[in-house]
Amino acid sequence: MRDRIDIDSNDNSLFVTSQCNNRCLMCAQPPLQRDDVEYCFQKNLSLIQSAPVELPNIGITGGEPTLIGDKLIELIRYIRQYLPRTLIHILTNGRRFADIHYTKSLVTSGVDYLLAGVPLHSDYLHDHDLISQACGSYNETMKGLYNMARYHLEIELRIVINKINYKRLPKLATFIYKNLPFVKYISFMGLEDTGYSIKNQEQVWIDPVNYQNELEQAVLELAGWGMDVSVFNLPHCLLKESLYAFAQKSISDWKVKYMECCEECRMKNECCGLFSTSKKQSDKLMAI
Ligand code: SF4
Ligand code: SF4
Repeated sequence: MRDRIDIDSNDNSLFVTSQCNNRCLMCAQPPLQRDDVEYCFQKNLSLIQSAPVELPNIGITGGEPTLIGDKLIELIRYIRQYLPRTLIHILTNGRRFADIHYTKSLVTSGVDYLLAGVPLHSDYLHDHDLISQACGSYNETMKGLYNMARYHLEIELRIVINKINYKRLPKLATFIYKNLPFVKYISFMGLEDTGYSIKNQEQVWIDPVNYQNELEQAVLELAGWGMDVSVFNLPHCLLKESLYAFAQKSISDWKVKYMECCEECRMKNECCGLFSTSKKQSDKLMAI
């Protein structure tokens, strides 16, 4: 948990609880049944008070932030009071938003500049529920997405690419365009090999070079339809050149690393680098 907000950091997040109602096979920060809500809440209030008013954005993360219920709404109101123009980026599995009343209260408390980052693991219910390890989560997340749209909450769909979902990425792209055209951003993300993904490596790990065709088809299809699509956490040397324009420098500054080969790479300034926290790295990394 952070001790202070740093305006120069690309990762200013408020951690609200380590509890979660999913158990995603590749969760980088496995949930805990810890009674930490009040402790985190008090800590976050003082972090917000100390934040500079010109802070461009602040994250809210966990665990699953909505599990703290009305306290999340209180926290958002508090941020708005101290940081009226800061974008609040909530990372949520979206399930609680299936409750329309909760969605309405939360959106109203944020007063604009609110963005929900929601993982959608697949267009196929059973793959989504298999990855989230929570039966019924796909239906709740989808309902949550529609409720968010109804109250004009901006949405970033987050797709962590893994061995279970990579083959359907082109189908997922079509599904998004046809059924979720209101989302503001779509982020395809490389896997951080830590937490549960180490335990479940056989099920989830795939070298990014092995899903480039599917990723390229999905990204170009969404971009062709005018949607705002990005690629996160994947270094340029593992990407097809056609995807360079979509690649973001996305890895938090405190956990990014570069290898020896990166020193002579002409793409180093544009490249997101690698997760220092990942146990496994692709063996295809090489200077461009
Ligand atoms: S990845 Fe997110 S939704 Fe999934 S178990 Fe971890 S904290 Fe929960
Ligand atoms: S060699 Fe390093 S800097 Fe170059 S693309 Fe690969 S990871 Fe990025």
